[in-house]
Amino acid sequence: MTRRLGILGGTFDPVHFGHLDAAAAAQSALALHDVLFVPSHDPPHRPDAPHATGVQRLALVTLAINGVNARRVSDVELRRNGPSYTADTLRALHAEGWAPMQLFFILGADAFAEIATWRELPFVLDATNFAVIARPGTTIETAVTRTPELQRRTQPASAASHPSDSTGIFLVEAATRDISSTLIRQRLAAGQPIDDLVPATVARHIAAHRLYNTEDVLHGHEDNKTEDD
Ligand code: ATP
Ligand code: MG
Repeated sequence: MTRRLGILGGTFDPVHFGHLDAAAAAQSALALHDVLFVPSHDPPHRPDAPHATGVQRLALVTLAINGVNARRVSDVELRRNGPSYTADTLRALHAEGWAPMQLFFILGADAFAEIATWRELPFVLDATNFAVIARPGTTIETAVTRTPELQRRTQPASAASHPSDSTGIFLVEAATRDISSTLIRQRLAAGQPIDDLVPATVARHIAAHRLYNTEDVLHGHEDNKTEDD
C-alpha cells in the first residue's frame, strides 16, 4: 500500500488528549502511517487571536507527541504570514511529492460542520481525503446533516481499504475524550489543575512558562520570598 499521511490542523491553544485521541482514531480506522500535527498561525474562522504564541503552541505540540510513534509536527503554517488556509498547506504537501489520494485531513465533527465556509473548497476536496471524527457534543450524523452538499462524497471509514481513483470523506465513529482547549483555558484561569486533560509534559511546560496567565506553580512561591518574609 502507498504511504498514507494524516494531517491534523488546529489552533492547539493548547494541545490536549482529545487531539491525541482524534489522531489515534483516524490512524487506526484508515491505516495511516503517520499523523502530522499542523498548528495554524492565524486561523481564519476564529473571532479571537490565539492566546499563546505560535512558537509556544508549537512547543506544546512537540512535547505532547514526544515519544509517541508515528507523530510529527510541522511549522509550515506558522512560517507563512497572515491567515492559515488549508488549501496552501495542501499545496505545500503536494510540492513535497504527496498525492491527494495519500493525504487524509483529520477534522472533528464540529470543525467539519463548518467546512462550507472554507476558502477554495472545491480545490480542497480534490486535494486530500478527509477523516471526520465524532466529537463529544457533535455526532458524525449532525456534521453530515449540516453539510448536505457533501453527502454524496461521504463514506464509512471501512471503504478506505478499497481502491478508488478519487478522494473521499471518510467518517470515523470513535470515542475521543470530552476535552477542548477552551475548557483548559477556563480551568487555568480559575487556578484549577489540568492534569487529566493534557500530557504531564504539557502541563509542566504551561506552568513553568506561565502560559495562559497561570501562576508558576513550580517556582512561583519561592521566587517571591525573601529572607525577611
Ligand atoms: P477550542 O476550544 O479553542 O476551539 P479545540 O479543543 O476545539 O479548541 P482545535 O485546535 O480547535 O481544538 O481543534 C483542532 C482539531 O481537532 C479540530 O478539527 C477539532 O474538531 C479536533 N478536536 C479537538 N478536540 C477534539 C476531541 N475531543 N475529539 C475529537 N476531535 C477533536
Ligand atoms: Mg475548536
